[in-house]
Amino acid sequence: MYSPISELYVDGRRFYVKRDDLIDPFLAGNKYRKLYTLLQTPPQKFKTVISYGGTQSNAMLAIAAMCKNKGWEFIYYTKPLSTTQKDEKGGNFYHAKRLGMKHIELANDLYRDFIASLRLNLDEETFVIDQGGAVEEARLGLEVLAKEIREQNLHLKSLATPSGTGTTALFLALSLPEYRVYTTPCVGDADYLREQMSALHEIPKNLTILEPKKKYHFAKPYIEFLEMQQKLLSGGVEFDLIYAPGMWRALLEQTDEEILYIHSGGVSGNESMLQRYKQKGFI
Ligand SMILES: *Cc1c(COP(=O)(O)O)cnc(C)c1O
Repeated sequence: MYSPISELYVDGRRFYVKRDDLIDPFLAGNKYRKLYTLLQTPPQKFKTVISYGGTQSNAMLAIAAMCKNKGWEFIYYTKPLSTTQKDEKGGNFYHAKRLGMKHIELANDLYRDFIASLRLNLDEETFVIDQGGAVEEARLGLEVLAKEIREQNLHLKSLATPSGTGTTALFLALSLPEYRVYTTPCVGDADYLREQMSALHEIPKNLTILEPKKKYHFAKPYIEFLEMQQKLLSGGVEFDLIYAPGMWRALLEQTDEEILYIHSGGVSGNESMLQRYKQKGFI
């Protein structure tokens, strides 16, 4: 079952979109690809999965959905939460809790050391997934995506997908050397992204990092991000408000060929992001 490809017109330009967002309401996008190996694991292999990170994380929700399907207990560690966050009735945190996630808050000053010690004394039935998703395991899932893209052959030469850790874009570029892969940093700047990627593998020549024209802070509301997301939505495809708008801006400003955009998911987080746009008075 391959995820479908849609056409999308933006500013009069034709794009194609690989609809990984349609795989599942909660377990979709690149988090589905990155969890691929674990999804193939028989349920009896593990009892518990542990992870940690932000409370709006798309990875958190994807892991929660996977654990629910597998019957695995899911424990998720975060720094202390505000009461407003705890009481939200939508968004990734809310849905992850409803899927059975056990949430544990760690005091700010303990967080670092506690996370660093997670793998000490682990038993065989517990699996730890680092923030942002499993890394080595991700490679196989992205090779599966690469195979789909190759077989859905659109006679295109360029792909695009936005980066957090850069794992997705890097492994995609490594698996598809005959394509150019565009990405853009959404966490930190291009140097930081290169550093993150280089820790995983040498950056291949077919991977092009487009620099945003302006410095954006991760997961903050920006009016131009909202406008871009709404423009894409009126074109027929909903994208997330955190990663996708920066990537689309860079593509529209800095490229001119036909491109297949790999939808990275994250639409489930829009509910709580839109709430923040409202609080800021942008809506
Ligand atoms: C996690 C995520 C990314 C970033 O993926 P990396 O592999 O960490 O670069 C991009 N888009 C969305 C919607 C995500 O949830």
